[in-house]
Amino acid sequence: MFIANWKMNGSEAMLKIWLAEIKENLNQDARSSCILCPPVCFISQASKIIQRDDLGLAIGAQDVDPEIHSALTGGISGSMLKDLGSEYVIVGHSERRVNFNESSSLLKSKLEAATISGLKVIFCIGESLEEKEAGKSFEVLENQLKVYNSLTNLESIIAYEPVWAIGTGKVAEISYISEMHNFIIEKTKELNINLISLAYGGSVNSSSSKEILSLEEVNGLLIGGASLEAKEFSKIVNSIEN
Ligand code: PEP
Repeated sequence: MFIANWKMNGSEAMLKIWLAEIKENLNQDARSSCILCPPVCFISQASKIIQRDDLGLAIGAQDVDPEIHSALTGGISGSMLKDLGSEYVIVGHSERRVNFNESSSLLKSKLEAATISGLKVIFCIGESLEEKEAGKSFEVLENQLKVYNSLTNLESIIAYEPVWAIGTGKVAEISYISEMHNFIIEKTKELNINLISLAYGGSVNSSSSKEILSLEEVNGLLIGGASLEAKEFSKIVNSIEN
């Protein structure tokens, strides 16, 4: 899967242009493996254009609130996201873990809320530079995956995103990506996680994508900055077939 994470970027005008360029540039066969995750306020418009132009892309939200109760000012539930046209939702992105102190128990509630609403989850995990340098990468990933305890059969895309590679221009070494992905695959088996796809994320662009995708243990990419340009995003996705 190829996940375009726009983060807090975009506008209605940009969305129209982006989708028009996708129509022009993205190979027809590859479209069903792409998930556009724009800010929540553009999901409805994105969904309408994708359907009208038969573009074949799926839509994901970038976050969901746990359905503790409905008295949560500013809250957006999974069913609201479904209503807007989302099929997927990102949970546990490091930018939210860090900026909003998202704890494991909160993430677990989000995973539950998403699943009850029928959304498929893109769960992000990854170690910080400090943790990597302290030799704790495996331990961190294992702990982050433990959120799935007692949530068996929940189908997930997992995105391995080393925090130090996100938005920094520093792509992880190919051997490091391979080692981490193989470790995650093993752990998902041990923890009975229903893994549908394992994606890498962290400063990927069209120059680095092909080599990363050549690894058998990498099933897709989560792309932030480079996904804002439809032509660049298309180039990355089209490269799997060329
Ligand atoms: C991301 O948004 O998770 C991400 C990997 O961003 P970037 O590609 O810009 O590093």
